[in-house]
Amino acid sequence: MQTKYAFFEGKIVPIDQAKVSVMTHAMHYGTACFGGIRAYWNEEEEQLYIFRLQEHIARFLTSTRLLLMDVSHSPEKLSATILELLRCEGFREDTYVRPLAYKADLRIGVKLHGMTDEVTIFATPFGRYIDKEEGADVCVSTWRRVDDNAIPARGKIAGAYVNSALVKSEALMDGYDEAIVLDQHGHVSEGSAENLFMVRNGKLVTPAITSNILEGITRRTIMELAAAELGIETEEREIDRTELYVCDELFFCGTGVQVAAIATVDRRPVGSGKIGPITTQIRDLYFDVVKGRVEKYRAWNTPVYTEA
Ligand code: PMP
Repeated sequence: MQTKYAFFEGKIVPIDQAKVSVMTHAMHYGTACFGGIRAYWNEEEEQLYIFRLQEHIARFLTSTRLLLMDVSHSPEKLSATILELLRCEGFREDTYVRPLAYKADLRIGVKLHGMTDEVTIFATPFGRYIDKEEGADVCVSTWRRVDDNAIPARGKIAGAYVNSALVKSEALMDGYDEAIVLDQHGHVSEGSAENLFMVRNGKLVTPAITSNILEGITRRTIMELAAAELGIETEEREIDRTELYVCDELFFCGTGVQVAAIATVDRRPVGSGKIGPITTQIRDLYFDVVKGRVEKYRAWNTPVYTEA
């Protein structure tokens, strides 16, 4: 199924009416920020469940604050709008929801304050983000992650995704599936659009939120699930590049990528070179939780087609 509608300039309209001018500020200066939310189709229940909607909306609003945006929509209004939009679309398959806030003024001049901010939202059916989710071949990028003092990575800021695009294209053009990006100090930050976990000596390790990462909702989910269900705590600390070469397991996580095992880094096998036991457990648990199959975590699943 195709996208039929968008929330645009305050109302839901047919998608072909959701258009901006070539003069739009955000088009020129990257002065926009966005969210990326998944809704999962649960076949048994014939229900579409949005995963951690409240957390995604909160982070979206955090990103707007970084860009000095004044979006007049409350979290409740945004969540009601997303539900209304999805009900209009009527998707019965896994779906991706993209809210975007942008500087809408039609003018030249780089700044953030005193501008008109608009919010638009659309949804589209969405499957896998990386083909080889069971074992991706990745490299360490020659690009460095944008620094917090350049463009804050903790917000999903449109302009900063040029950094991600440089990383991703370099990796794909060199025959890899993805890349791991180092920060300005040479420590591991994250993937082009996903967070990273390493397993060393039976423990989970992930870069801290001060390592120029996006404060991922999947990252937080995995830390919570690993602690509560597998009894594995996560250490948040700096990771050196060569730890990637000697660790036992490595995986990406994110709304788009979900949980994707890494088979090789710079052509060196990670552990056995196959998806490891802890990654497998986390991945299976994650898919059950997002689909609404685990009672304990049902508060994270917002049903689209009926009231909770
Ligand atoms: N890092 C970056 C740069 C991303 O774009 C994403 C995707 N939103 C993530 C990490 C993962 O974040 P989340 O789990 O909140 O989707």
